[in-house]
Amino acid sequence: MSRMLEGKVVLVTGGGSGIGRATAAAMAREGARVAVADLSQEGIEATVALINSAGGQGIAITGDVAEETDVANMVARTVAAFGRIDCAFNNAGVSGRAVGPTGQRLHELAQSSVAKMFAVNLMGVFLCLKHEITQMLAQGGGGAIVNTSSIAGLIGLATSGHYVAAKHGVVGLTKTAAIEYASDGIRVNCVNPGYIQTPMTDEMMKTRHDEIMAKVPVRRLGRADEIAEAVVWMCSDKASFMTGAVHLVDGGYCAA
Ligand code: NAP
Repeated sequence: MSRMLEGKVVLVTGGGSGIGRATAAAMAREGARVAVADLSQEGIEATVALINSAGGQGIAITGDVAEETDVANMVARTVAAFGRIDCAFNNAGVSGRAVGPTGQRLHELAQSSVAKMFAVNLMGVFLCLKHEITQMLAQGGGGAIVNTSSIAGLIGLATSGHYVAAKHGVVGLTKTAAIEYASDGIRVNCVNPGYIQTPMTDEMMKTRHDEIMAKVPVRRLGRADEIAEAVVWMCSDKASFMTGAVHLVDGGYCAA
């Protein structure tokens, strides 16, 4: 059976953990050579080991998506190793817990927390788009990019104002990029996960599991591999008419 990403080169950010790791592994299983980027060396080396031990080809690149020189380096290293970039999954992100105290309404949020949130979850996606698209335009032949937004990119969530604003921004960047580069054959979509079991949600689930599950029609957390399968498909040529789309994978959360 032919594999969905046979011969493609992909760059995955936030690839050292959770959704990014599962997606990098799924992309490799589908025939892609995968550049795995993240802040921490340990996480990406584990992901690359997973890929290579299954017979795939992966490389590890450390870097901060909020720093333009790091993002430029991620793209340059991918091209140096594999010759081009066909697909990208701009997935690195942080939760509110990583940038300040939790449980704060808008008037309580410190400017520094909001700035850190926007730097990673919104500016990070912008910088990745900028450098990936520059490379795709230079090499020709189009490409496919998926950005990680969230259910928080479509609805409000109390005490997550900065996260919600950043994830709505990712939807806006996705739609604009889709329009601007359609004529170059570059498709840009976003995936909007609901509550997924990853290190990002571990702490939250200790205190809010029952309250959150009561709002999820399927009554469980999603698995990282359930997001990965949607992203693989969006990056593949099977999604050739899909661009600028918002793709909820949320166990029915936003339908309820
Ligand atoms: P995760 O397991 O914490 O993975 C996120 C990864 O991104 C981590 O490896 C993290 O590195 C990395 N990262 C953070 N800041 C970075 C930066 N500045 N530069 C490069 N890498 C950075 O969380 P996840 O659940 O897989 O989240 C992946 C994406 O899905 C995020 O964008 C998140 O907002 C989104 N999302 C998650 C859920 C959910 O329920 N889990 C729902 C909707 C959307 P460190 O661990 O070293 O910080």
